[in-house]
Amino acid sequence: MRIAFIGLGNMGSGMAANLVKAGHEVHAFDLNAGAVAQAVAAGAVGAGDLAGACAGAAAVVTMLPAGKHVLEVYGQVLAVAPESAILMDCSTIDIDSARKVSVMAAKAGFAMVDAPVSGGVAAAQGGTLTFMVGGTDTAFAAAQPYLAAMGKAVIHAGDAGAGQAAKICNNMLLAITMIGTCEAFALAEKLGLDDQVFFDIASKASGQSWSMTSYCPVPGPVPASPANRDYQPGFAAGLMLKDLTLAMQAAGEIHADTPLGSRAHALYDALCADGQAGRDFSCMMERIRKGG
Ligand code: NAD
Repeated sequence: MRIAFIGLGNMGSGMAANLVKAGHEVHAFDLNAGAVAQAVAAGAVGAGDLAGACAGAAAVVTMLPAGKHVLEVYGQVLAVAPESAILMDCSTIDIDSARKVSVMAAKAGFAMVDAPVSGGVAAAQGGTLTFMVGGTDTAFAAAQPYLAAMGKAVIHAGDAGAGQAAKICNNMLLAITMIGTCEAFALAEKLGLDDQVFFDIASKASGQSWSMTSYCPVPGPVPASPANRDYQPGFAAGLMLKDLTLAMQAAGEIHADTPLGSRAHALYDALCADGQAGRDFSCMMERIRKGG
């Protein structure tokens, strides 16, 4: 099928390449000409502008930085894409913007889903992302085959905006378990326990979590974790701060109490202000170890 792919950055480039591998004709557009050239090298057709990418498309996929970019891009997409096209926004954005753009799409006669992802650049390249999808049953059914070509799991979370809600709740929990894991290792070290010994115990006891067993924040126990390569991302602390900010914004709007989410937001804010935004979010370990 002919697909317009807009936003070919760290994540979008790998996702577009997987749609090409699945046999689709991908027409790629980005404001950055270098990103388009990279997509062309991966088998996509380069588009000179957004209208050229969307012409004749059966599907439009966007992977953009934030809500303002998504609102701006869809303002144009809705004017130029065929009405039969299924629209999928995979960016992580605020729930309000996701719902706003979905209403705009419905008014213009389009089916649309918000479909943010869990998994970083490696999962985008490897086609192993998890998609959390918000939209009607009909829109989900239309989007599912395209998303499945880029991921290992595609889950319908509910109506428009529900994908974004699931994404920010998941990442708030991830931040909290990561900070808790860092705190436990730091205390264990200060109490004289060896990191590996504490890992062997906690990973098989009730302190176990993904942050410990798949992404351990101290070097050694999980060889693939960023702690073993000086916290190169992975998932950058700056992106975690972005997701926590979205979670706090959503919680504030509905007066939900998120005491640990607020604390996690404050800690990641301080970590990023300290020049660590580009390092993996598990580098929180260093800050907690030294008492930040
Ligand atoms: P990125 O900044 O690398 O890529 C965004 C791309 O969008 C850039 O190439 C930019 O030129 C392009 N763009 C911006 N405005 C545009 C416009 N008007 N028209 C066309 N192109 C435009 O960002 P990324 O790391 O690929 O992340 C994309 C989204 O995925 C973000 O919402 C991010 O929060 C989310 N996300 C990222 C990761 C990760 O590990 N990087 C993981 C999960 C989710």
